Formats: sequence, C-alpha cells, structure tokens
Amino acid sequence: MTQGRLFIVSGPSGVGKSTVLKTLLDRRENARFSVSATTRPMREGEVDGVHYHFITVETFREWIAQEEFLEYAEYVGHFYGTPKKFVEAALDAGQDIILDIEIQGALQVEKRRPDAVKIFIGPPSWDELERRLTSRGTNTPEDIQKRLVRAKVEVQTAHTYDYFVINNNVENAVRELDAIMTAEHCKPKERMELLADT
Ligand code: 5GP
Repeated sequence: MTQGRLFIVSGPSGVGKSTVLKTLLDRRENARFSVSATTRPMREGEVDGVHYHFITVETFREWIAQEEFLEYAEYVGHFYGTPKKFVEAALDAGQDIILDIEIQGALQVEKRRPDAVKIFIGPPSWDELERRLTSRGTNTPEDIQKRLVRAKVEVQTAHTYDYFVINNNVENAVRELDAIMTAEHCKPKERMELLADT
C-alpha cells in the first residue's frame, strides 16, 4: 500500500475554507481532516475535538516541549498547531490528510515533508472577503481589520503554493480541489509504485 498524500490548504480567514473543506471531505472517502489544537476561544457552533482541540496556552506550551506538533504558529494573538501523531498514522494507513493551516505553518510542514501539496484558497475580491468576515458576526471590527491586513500579506505568498483556487462559490472551489487531489494521485511515481506491488 502506498502512503497517503499530505495536502496543505491555506487562505485568508473568512475565505470560506471550512465550508469548502467540509464539502470536499464528504466527497473524498479516503481523505481525513487534521484537527488542529488552538488557544483561541471557541466560536458559537464549534465543537471541541471536531473543529479544533481547544486547549490552554499552558497545555499548548507543554505540547511544544513534548514535540507533539508537526508545526505550530501564532496567528492574530493565538496559537495554532497540528498534532503530529494523527497525521503520521493516517498517512501510514494510506489516507490522504488535509491540513487547514496558515502560511508560517505551511512553510514548516513543507520543510519536513517536501512531498506535501500546497493549495492556496483566495477570495474573488477584497470587498467580498470583508463582507464574509463581517457577516460571520463572530469577530470584532478590530479583529476583522487585523484579519484583512493579514489576508493581503498571505496572498502575496501565494506564488509559493502549487495551486490557487478562488472561492467564488463553494461548488466550484470544491470541484477544483477535488480535481487537484485526483491529479496528484495520477503522478507516475505513485502509479508505478502501485504497479510494482502487483
Ligand atoms: P480561525 O481562527 O479563523 O479558525 O483560523 C485562523 C487561521 O489559523 C486560519 O488561517 C487557519 O488556516 C489557521 N490554522 C488553523 N489551524 C492551524 C494549525 O494547526 N496550524 C497553523 N499554522 N495554522 C492553523
């Protein structure tokens, strides 16, 4: 059995990554979402262990010391990190893993796993991004401004990604991501390994 593939998905806060990824995961049986740990407060509708592992700063620091993270970063005043064990076990079991992480974390993962596929999800326009962040109703105006500034910095780095998907509507974005994942599995290396196992 070949290892699963690691897909890094980054994109500005509010671009709609969670909705797109949820729909994508419903369609791709062999793909799993890596649930990150974070120190940020839980938003309405979020479930501990499903959307994030919500932990204290103290616990986060312990996990860093115990090398529990594949990567971690600070984002708009809170810590976010990817627990390593789940990702490694799932990849070894042949499952694809999707990481929804920001750009500093993506760089760390890329160094450790150069075979990871990096996908950037962008908004159709800046006005639309601001509208989405505002309509979510869960961020303060100050927080929204911080996230917009950050979004512009993030888009500047998108040329370092393998693909750029625009989330103008969920269905189109999901279709493109699905196609990217399928195409990555059609690379000769994997196909030749599969054939060699027969
Ligand atoms: P939010 O607070 O809106 O859920 O997420 C804020 C940002 O943190 C998003 O860009 C998201 O991709 C990123 N993020 C979520 N989990 C992780 C993680 O484990 N590591 C890193 N580096 N970023 C993460």
